[in-house]
Amino acid sequence: MPHRKPRLGVWKFASCDGCQLSLLDCEDELLAIAGALDIAYFPEATRGDVKGVYDLSLVEGSITTPHDAERIHDVRGRSKTLITIGACATSGGIQALRNFADVRDYMSIVYAHPQYIETLATSTAIADHVKVDFELRGCPINKGQLIDVVSAFLAGRRPNTPAQSVCIECKLKGNVCVMVTGTPCLGPVTHAGCGALCPSYNRGCYGCFGPKETPNAPSLSAWLSGMGMNEKALERIYRTFNANAEPFRKESERHDAQNDQG
Ligand code: SF4
Ligand code: SF4
Ligand code: SF4
Repeated sequence: MPHRKPRLGVWKFASCDGCQLSLLDCEDELLAIAGALDIAYFPEATRGDVKGVYDLSLVEGSITTPHDAERIHDVRGRSKTLITIGACATSGGIQALRNFADVRDYMSIVYAHPQYIETLATSTAIADHVKVDFELRGCPINKGQLIDVVSAFLAGRRPNTPAQSVCIECKLKGNVCVMVTGTPCLGPVTHAGCGALCPSYNRGCYGCFGPKETPNAPSLSAWLSGMGMNEKALERIYRTFNANAEPFRKESERHDAQNDQG
């Protein structure tokens, strides 16, 4: 009997499609990936939809609607291995800013007829709803890391995506730290993966790769406070791409509370 190639499904939930595009952006490697996997479901790239079970599912986007909260259970049930890709899928994305407000206030501003919108009060990570086998961070993800994750699946090994901070990548590149000249930087608490892109251009990190393993956000906040950031600015710096990732959420809420007291 001929050997069957592992079936790949790429699923979209609430997102901008940027992480799926990272897969299509793997131009040099795409033919090899397509040769090793049967791309059975990938609406961004093909209309094909093979029914049944998927050996590997890559899931992009967060859960923001009652329908998607049900659909993710169907995807999980049909996936032997499920990997989430990007800040939306791993933390709720920038759309999780609704978690700090009343989503109905946003709806009335954005939509002419909000009565037709069916939405949840929160935007949450896929792992808040179903078991996830691996989370790949980034907004968008790094295509080199994505290829490593797919290769790891095919080889039956753990992905090699170090959980260290952007600072490590930054130091390895020989950059002068932007904090020295007074530019705030989330590098010390942010997951590596971008090659310290922003500090390499003399800009602070905005945390788009989400929290590193065991980040010490209160310690970084103390440094940023010493550089002149007030409570409101400290609240906001953690509320971007990964606002709902627990270490960032807790730190922004701590400064929000202190701002209210002050
Ligand atoms: S993580 Fe960023 S790039 Fe990826 S889908 Fe979400 S918003 Fe788009
Ligand atoms: S510039 Fe940012 S990422 Fe680089 S060492 Fe300084 S704090 Fe860390
Ligand atoms: S330095 Fe920070 S904001 Fe810039 S790409 Fe890397 S993780 Fe994203």
